[in-house]
Amino acid sequence: MAPFTKSDTIWFNGAFVPWDAARVHVMAHGLHYGTGVFEGIRSYETDDGPAVFRLDDHIARLFASAALYELEIPYTAAELTSATLELLTRNRLTRTYIRPIAFFDAHSLTLWPRECPVSVAIAAMPLGAYLGEGITKGVRVCISSVRRFDASAIPTTAKACGQYVNSVRAVQEALRRGFDEAIFLNQRGEVAEGSGENLFLVKDGAILTNGEEAGVLPGITRASVLEIAATLGIPARVAPISVADLSAADELFFTGTAAEVTPIVDVDGRAVSGGTPGPITLRLQESFFDVVHGRDPRFTRWLAYADALASS
Ligand code: PMP
Repeated sequence: MAPFTKSDTIWFNGAFVPWDAARVHVMAHGLHYGTGVFEGIRSYETDDGPAVFRLDDHIARLFASAALYELEIPYTAAELTSATLELLTRNRLTRTYIRPIAFFDAHSLTLWPRECPVSVAIAAMPLGAYLGEGITKGVRVCISSVRRFDASAIPTTAKACGQYVNSVRAVQEALRRGFDEAIFLNQRGEVAEGSGENLFLVKDGAILTNGEEAGVLPGITRASVLEIAATLGIPARVAPISVADLSAADELFFTGTAAEVTPIVDVDGRAVSGGTPGPITLRLQESFFDVVHGRDPRFTRWLAYADALASS
């Protein structure tokens, strides 16, 4: 994957600062112990200017993740929302990946960082398809030997920094073995999700994805696709997925903010839907792109327009 493209300014602890000035001390608690929470959000071009997809839901999840780690974000959701929109305007960016992060900063190395200040930053940078040409051609995945961590150890519904070492190991293995992405199994040996994506399968014209009990992050793209499927009359179910279900699937696809709706065309060397993206996957992908680009009036409520802020 290409290195990120710097943008002009980053919102850092309440001020807009140049990209290169947004620095953190090496003794930050979050750096040592992964004690931070973050979000991944996208903005898209629409006829009414740049719009952030489901910004309120992402900010709400950031606060929910923070609460699980007893991390108090010293800003309101409204402040982070307007900072995000202003960031797009200031950077003159349209299609971006937005990364808010809140973490325990430098003060002490004690494990309960009660006294550590909490720092918050929001960066926005241009980003194309996360899984490259996989967005059109589909990706080849392996079932990882790295299992997804269990909710009994770490809250699986939180998006916390340290948790991602689990995903890093799965991606490292997948790429080493020549695949594009990994699928985690959970501690029970059921299918969980991708390293940074939820998983859907298509069987006999219906879609199936697993729920929180499978130890997956309840993705905002996943929820969006379930709602979009309803408008298309595609039946949907939420239930556990077994490895056997994967092998028997007619189609498979990932959902995620970065990955959007990415077809899966091969699992461990076994072709899915004949090795090309399946028709239901493509319908959902097309509808998803209509929604995020503001072309579906039923879902413009999911868009926060940056220019509306600029002109208000
Ligand atoms: N699972 C994991 C582990 C993730 O990191 C992500 C990305 N946030 C997702 C699923 C998809 O979530 P969303 O659609 O909200 O981006």
